[in-house]
Amino acid sequence: MQPDFSSSLQPHLANLIAFRRDIHAHPELCYEEERTAAKVLEHLRELPALTIQERMAGGTGICATINAGKPGPCVLLRADMDALPIQELSDLPYKSKHPGKMHACGHDGHTTALLGAAYVLTEHADSLPGSVKLCFQPAEEDGGGGRRMIDDGVLENPKVDAAFALHGWPDIELGHVIAAPGPMLAATAPFEIDFTGCGGHAAYPHKSKDVLLAVAQFVCNAQAIRPRFVDPLKPVVVSFTQIEGGNTHNVLPDRCHLKGTIRALDSQSHTIAKRALEQFLRSTEANFGIQAKLKFLEDYPVLINDEKCAAFVAEVAEDLLGPENVVIDAPPGMGGEDFAFYAQKVPATMYRLGLRPKGANDYPNLHNPHFDFNDNALATAATMQCTIAHRFLQTHAN
Ligand SMILES: [Zn+2]
Ligand SMILES: [Zn+2]
Repeated sequence: MQPDFSSSLQPHLANLIAFRRDIHAHPELCYEEERTAAKVLEHLRELPALTIQERMAGGTGICATINAGKPGPCVLLRADMDALPIQELSDLPYKSKHPGKMHACGHDGHTTALLGAAYVLTEHADSLPGSVKLCFQPAEEDGGGGRRMIDDGVLENPKVDAAFALHGWPDIELGHVIAAPGPMLAATAPFEIDFTGCGGHAAYPHKSKDVLLAVAQFVCNAQAIRPRFVDPLKPVVVSFTQIEGGNTHNVLPDRCHLKGTIRALDSQSHTIAKRALEQFLRSTEANFGIQAKLKFLEDYPVLINDEKCAAFVAEVAEDLLGPENVVIDAPPGMGGEDFAFYAQKVPATMYRLGLRPKGANDYPNLHNPHFDFNDNALATAATMQCTIAHRFLQTHAN
């Protein structure tokens, strides 16, 4: 028998919405989620049947286990807590109080939904034939908080049999879910490059080593990586996102700093594109007589949803939301997700949960300065997480 999680959640909903808005107003960047983690812990400590492990993944990660030590399978539900370095432009009463930071990816909603699941699942702890790990991780956007949670043992003691996560999705309507097997989000390779030339008077460029022209050509030339180095049937993106160099109109600067990212849906194309970037850089150095130092930051692997786990999530969603509101064959996207680290180690699935109000034509996209996780999605999000955990344990208990 499955408890009525939706009804169990109702008395907590107003508090959860207040919690989400408070987190939204106080966004914290990667590995700085001290206040957010403290607020989560404040609530978790009131709940029964929980064993809490804190200060994980560099300080702000939390793993709260329901029924620790109880024999049976173990399922992990994951939420991310970090915000983005974006200035919020909304007029919401709970808009960000921290200049230049905002919850533009909806991780405030993910954290709140998992807290809602904590309330409801601990109420029904006796009916769970195994244990549930509630994983609140830092630094999804940058810095691989998921990898560090795994390094700190989140998948061990007890050993996790499967992991599930949701991501709020502005492109789909409230009450809809996408749970598709296979590659869902891309491998990422953020990089930065320091170019060094020889500065001088803008009127006498032949007496300088001009880094800006070199960078401009490099940015254009690197666009040939996609069509000429990678299999045309394999999606790859090479994007440059930040250029800093020079400070006036009549001086050729001697330095320029460039940032960007490479995305691919398979690891082979990812490696090929990274090597090609390096190759283009070496030819730029030779052509312009400058030096370029390339540094790849932390790569995220491709997020590959396990076939059985994705089908399982789809089945849960169909029961809760109706089969007409569940999609199982959506194409992947070129965004990245460090839930990919969990999916490399255990069977796992991330599903997309609709945020767009019914009847609305559009909704601000993820990482947009007007984005806000829709509070009306919280009940569905928490109920989905509870049902996934409960049913997974029931199905896998001996
Ligand atoms: Zn994001
Ligand atoms: Zn995100």
